[in-house]
Amino acid sequence: MSLRFNAISSITKETEGVLSRPSAKITGIFGESVFTLKTAREFLSDEAYKSLITSVRGGKKIDRNVASQIANGIRAWAESKGVTHYTHWFQPLTGTTAEKHDSFFTLKSDGTAIEEFDGAALIQQEPDASSFPSGGLRATFEARGYTAWDPSSPAFIIETGDGRTLCIPTIFVSYTGESLDYKAPLLKSVEALNKSAVEVCNYFDKNVTKVTATLGWEQEYFVIDEALANARPDLVQCGRTVFGAAPAKGQQLEDHYFGSIPERVYAFMRDYEAEAYKLGIPLRTRHNEVAPAQFECAPIFEEVNIAVDHNTLLMDVMSRVAKRHKLVVLLHEKPFAGINGSGKHNNWSMATDTGVNLLAPGKTPKTNLMFLTFFVNTIKAVHDYADIMRAAIASAPNDHRLGANEAPPAIISVFVGQYLAKVLADVETRVGNKFDEQDEAILKLDLHRSIPELMLDNTDRNRTSPFAFTGNKFEFRAVGSSANCAISMTVLNTIVADTLKKFKADVDALIEKGDKKEIAIMHEEWHHEAERRGLPNLKTTPVALDAMLSDKAKHLFESNGILSHSELEARHEIELEKYIKKVQIEARIMGDLAINHILPAAIKYQNDLLTNINGLKAAGLPESAYHSQLAIVTEVSKHIQIIHSKTHEMVEARKIVNNIENSRTKAIAYESQVKSTFFDEIRYHVDKLEHLVDDEYWTLPKYREMLFLR
Ligand code: ADP
Ligand code: MG
Repeated sequence: MSLRFNAISSITKETEGVLSRPSAKITGIFGESVFTLKTAREFLSDEAYKSLITSVRGGKKIDRNVASQIANGIRAWAESKGVTHYTHWFQPLTGTTAEKHDSFFTLKSDGTAIEEFDGAALIQQEPDASSFPSGGLRATFEARGYTAWDPSSPAFIIETGDGRTLCIPTIFVSYTGESLDYKAPLLKSVEALNKSAVEVCNYFDKNVTKVTATLGWEQEYFVIDEALANARPDLVQCGRTVFGAAPAKGQQLEDHYFGSIPERVYAFMRDYEAEAYKLGIPLRTRHNEVAPAQFECAPIFEEVNIAVDHNTLLMDVMSRVAKRHKLVVLLHEKPFAGINGSGKHNNWSMATDTGVNLLAPGKTPKTNLMFLTFFVNTIKAVHDYADIMRAAIASAPNDHRLGANEAPPAIISVFVGQYLAKVLADVETRVGNKFDEQDEAILKLDLHRSIPELMLDNTDRNRTSPFAFTGNKFEFRAVGSSANCAISMTVLNTIVADTLKKFKADVDALIEKGDKKEIAIMHEEWHHEAERRGLPNLKTTPVALDAMLSDKAKHLFESNGILSHSELEARHEIELEKYIKKVQIEARIMGDLAINHILPAAIKYQNDLLTNINGLKAAGLPESAYHSQLAIVTEVSKHIQIIHSKTHEMVEARKIVNNIENSRTKAIAYESQVKSTFFDEIRYHVDKLEHLVDDEYWTLPKYREMLFLR
């Protein structure tokens, strides 16, 4: 029996043994695997605790002495929870997370066995980094890279089976200090935004001393049966199906969205949520998404660095917990053709240490003006740097969503809602008028009352906007479901920091000239607002990435202290390489499936038909008795010939493209000479065969099975 039928028959068995956790109050387990400040208070001396607090809050360096005290406290806590090993946990540019475990166990010079975790091991490690992508930043003879502790994100314990590992969130840099990960530039962008935003806040409120970027991500994903997934080499290797005919029923009935959650998936959700709560990930929402077998979860928003760590951690937790339920989580942006893909909406805002959400419209004129200032500057930033935002979300898998006819489109635009659009127009008409008491009244825009209207305007039409204002935050919707949010958040923080910086310089100049502060701000706001338009629409990753290397981008990232020219070039190179490899792997899998699965099934079926035809002929029946069989044989044969020759041509095309030296040219060639030229065409004929060939012979699980059997 083929893997496919084995898989199908195993499903009913799996559903019987569904694991389920006893319901526990979330507050009872929340953060129990995290070295929170509360835990720190318990396990650290006064001195160590104070030092930790200042470095968490102010990013101050911890000296080695105190570091050892902190390390001891963390170890004592971890050991009380059964931990034997620790690891520096980081986010290299591969896009996944990395760990290398070391035990606390060590031998003293006299051979005594002890458990130890010293300050040096907490603060810094030197993993052999030669196998991580560096985009040429680190010559292979200099294999060392450093991981360095990020105290602003707390240590946590990962449970894998019976094992417990202490994870220390770290940044990852080369021997010469260049960033080799996603966290280091993110932290720098957080600082740049803090600086610019505080200065602008101080026009309105001198008490603001810190502004943090906040992120609430909405993670979409598919869940399918593990046995079915394992019978699909394309899912196993690429995370998406390269073939598969559309099922009779897809998402057209719209009966999945917000529908009742299937029981087996529900058990899985509760299980991964419990793991997430222990890790301090504040999950709040779960529901079915639009496509069959598609779901979403979202947490309460957090400070952006923590939120990014929590998202990468959750993706890992989900994949691991799914195994316990004999399920597979697909985080790929487009696992199935013909139905919706998955994104990761990044809800972003800025919050002050005085408790104000800078993107929440306030009630008094002054706070309205503060809101408008940050609102308009964000729009202006997106306008000016739309190409860099587009580059930030570019990846081979996301091309299937952004370039295709699926919302949100690749073009970066901003949706602000009718009401705020009108407010901005009002601002325009007031510029140049004298600013007096009466205008103060007009300034009382009373946005508060109008928010429901704005929400109402958030219909499907606006869902197609890749960047939307949704009442009290902006929502970057074009981010891919498998992406590390740090990339888009670093860009957003940086472009807003930069725009606020320039805005402040302009306003200061106007005030210098004698303008009243409010007028100056109004003037600048409109000026910024008026410029938004004319946005890039790039469909493929290799060209979308060009924006990373423009003079504008180099200047932006360097002048704000986020990434140097060489770091930017290295990242560009790495993203191109990732693109090339992903398309290359997909092309290989297509060839493999076509030759080893599809054609043999089709040929077997053809033989059956021929035996039948010959039998009928031998029995002396007229042609009319096997006319249909002949027609099927002919049709199957036509598809076989095309699949075979196209697969062969694709291999030849790859050979040519593989010889190209320059990564950009090579990536573009992979897109145009391999992907665009062959993928859709080969798939078309394979999917036709799926409809023709005897179901018994078809070895790959079909869409209707993967999407609907659970
Ligand atoms: P939806 O966009 O689907 O209507 P919500 O509006 O409830 O859903 O929020 C989606 C996400 O936005 C949640 O993770 C939520 O915590 C987050 N969010 C809400 N306010 C903010 C904010 N000020 N900053 C960042 N994220 C926020
Ligand atoms: Mg949303």
